[in-house]
Amino acid sequence: MSRFLNHKYAGLTAYTPGEQPRDRQYIKLNTNESPYPPSPAVLSALEEADVAALRLYSDPEGTSLREKLAGLYGVESGQVFLSNGSDDILNFAFMAFGSDGAVFPSLTYSFYPVFANLHGVPYETVPLREDFSVDAAILAGQGKLTVLANPNAPTGVALSLEQVESVVAADPNHVVVVDEAYVDFGAQSAVTLLEKYDNLLVVMTFSKSRSMAGARLGFALGSRDLIQDLEKLKYATNPYNVNRLTLKLGEAAVDSNEYFRENARRIMATRSETAQRLRDLGFSMPDSQANFLFLTHPGLDGEVLYQKCKSRGILIRHFSDPAIAGYNRVTIGTETEMAAFVQEAEEILREEGL
Ligand code: PMP
Repeated sequence: MSRFLNHKYAGLTAYTPGEQPRDRQYIKLNTNESPYPPSPAVLSALEEADVAALRLYSDPEGTSLREKLAGLYGVESGQVFLSNGSDDILNFAFMAFGSDGAVFPSLTYSFYPVFANLHGVPYETVPLREDFSVDAAILAGQGKLTVLANPNAPTGVALSLEQVESVVAADPNHVVVVDEAYVDFGAQSAVTLLEKYDNLLVVMTFSKSRSMAGARLGFALGSRDLIQDLEKLKYATNPYNVNRLTLKLGEAAVDSNEYFRENARRIMATRSETAQRLRDLGFSMPDSQANFLFLTHPGLDGEVLYQKCKSRGILIRHFSDPAIAGYNRVTIGTETEMAAFVQEAEEILREEGL
């Protein structure tokens, strides 16, 4: 830290992204990326892109992509906010709506407390149930900005639409952010609630099911007023937050929507197959509605599984939080990648005498 850093950031603990090592080729199951490439339409849009036009700024309103997303989700384009990945929106949400503090589950996306601390938003957490599900009754009506990842990360466990609605309905005077980064892998989206609730902000991303993590594109759907608040913060920080190429690629992705739905179905099928094989080996895990499994094995230290997988060329995600030290989060890759993971896991168990 330099002596110049504003003292208010001196104690800030930043988010730790999953590792992206370059020392060798890994089977990468640690950051919930899609194992499949973006749609052929996205690849052709990239090939045909007008690179000379990069001298010009991007459309700060992202009009064309917003209209397409509005059509897809049955809202008006004034209800769509675009961003440089959905982390950007979560950042804005804490900045914009956290004046009465925030609340989220005790085990969830580890970026939420970072954003809260960054913006000086005091926060509380509510414990998960034993089976890792979020207790909607405790989360509801806390009188604060409420942030709910559905499905939750790193567990993959989803709440039903009725449970999400109970949280949104309980506190009409505070914003409820439903982070749907993983919703396309089996959970119900809260988008249908938007016409009823003006305190609901649904946050989505092109990073997971649409295979575009590297393009950095996220969006939020909400009431016009909420979207205008986010726009205000965007124009106060970075008006051209989504670059020209990404806007174009995003449009192509929306135009070829069936492609990502098909990939999501494949990933869900691989998920159930993998979960079954891991359970046969003695692993346990909550039922996941996301593109990852949150697994543990009695007698096997989570860190040991992570390290041994890494030395065998498979990256999975282990978290430093002592409450989940026995667990690892494993992204669903291709069938071949998952077969390799199951095989290595089996060998590691044998080595450990389990
Ligand atoms: N929400 C959750 C729950 C996530 O796991 C992630 C990915 N780390 C994000 C949001 C942000 O994804 P992105 O910024 O790539 O849209």
